[in-house]
Amino acid sequence: MHQGFHAMQLGSAGAPLRRVERAMPTPADGEIRIAVTACGVCRTDLHIADGDIGDRLPIIPGHEIVGRVDALGPGVTRFGLGDRVGVPWLGRSCDTCPYCAAGHENLCDAPEFTGFTRDGGFASHVVADARFCLAIPAAFDDVHAAPLLCAGLIGYRAYRMAGGTKRLGLYGFGAAAHILAQIAIADGADVFAFTRAGDAAGQDFARRLGCTWAGASNEAPPAALDAAILFAPVGALVPEALRRVRKGGRVICAGIHMSDIPSFPYADLWEERSIHSVANLTRADGAAFLEAAARRGVQTHVTALPLAEANHALDRLRAGGVEGALVLIPEGAEAVARGNP
Ligand SMILES: [Zn+2]
Ligand SMILES: [Zn+2]
Repeated sequence: MHQGFHAMQLGSAGAPLRRVERAMPTPADGEIRIAVTACGVCRTDLHIADGDIGDRLPIIPGHEIVGRVDALGPGVTRFGLGDRVGVPWLGRSCDTCPYCAAGHENLCDAPEFTGFTRDGGFASHVVADARFCLAIPAAFDDVHAAPLLCAGLIGYRAYRMAGGTKRLGLYGFGAAAHILAQIAIADGADVFAFTRAGDAAGQDFARRLGCTWAGASNEAPPAALDAAILFAPVGALVPEALRRVRKGGRVICAGIHMSDIPSFPYADLWEERSIHSVANLTRADGAAFLEAAARRGVQTHVTALPLAEANHALDRLRAGGVEGALVLIPEGAEAVARGNP
């Protein structure tokens, strides 16, 4: 019998996460309870912890969750006990608003977001709406699958928005870019990686993954870009990237939060250049991306840390220089998470 579960919880913005123990939740209609084996750490978790976004507190962050179903709520037929599932950022949509009705559930008027408006995966257990959970391809163990669930997925939505690009710029070469670069290169694109100035290790990592060029974010790439995707939460990069794309080129802002965008001359936008933001994901995005990641042989680069070190993980992300993605593993879940149950 489960007595309770534990989690790393945010009590107030700007304060460290604290370990909490709570009664084991019972899944409601249509929900499943999941024993978490791995949960990725996303920049959005950092924005939540730092109070840049959100005000639903206390909250258990974490929205790149992989685990095993350990209890079924009434009416759930999609998954069975013991099944491996992934839980992404979109925890639930309303199904009735104009956006949901048009197939744009990522823009739902009354959404729930995992680890933001409902408790997430920095925990031993989490409850999720089964309809919004994703099956994980067998090619990935839990630890390596976790970063796919936001970094990969949101990156892929941004990539599809960029639209068939041959020369793609990625600003900020962290968890999302290192996954998307592999997909774009497999598609035959030349990828140009932009990092903080002086981040030689990050630029080297990008080249090792097959990027055509890597440099500082204020440098000019050797050729004009068809599109640029911004993962770094730095508004000044918007006009910077705009100057690097060709006529008709797109600049896609893939983060949930960004510092203010400085003004820039209209000439930089002229000639049908455009700026877009990417918000959330749809279930269809999730299924399409996971299939694409497995088919193209994406390999995520992951540093795993115990769940108890969640604050350290956030500090490392804030400091920059993480190669690939950080993933938290609850106590006792290591063997299953590594694919050696
Ligand atoms: Zn809706
Ligand atoms: Zn995320």
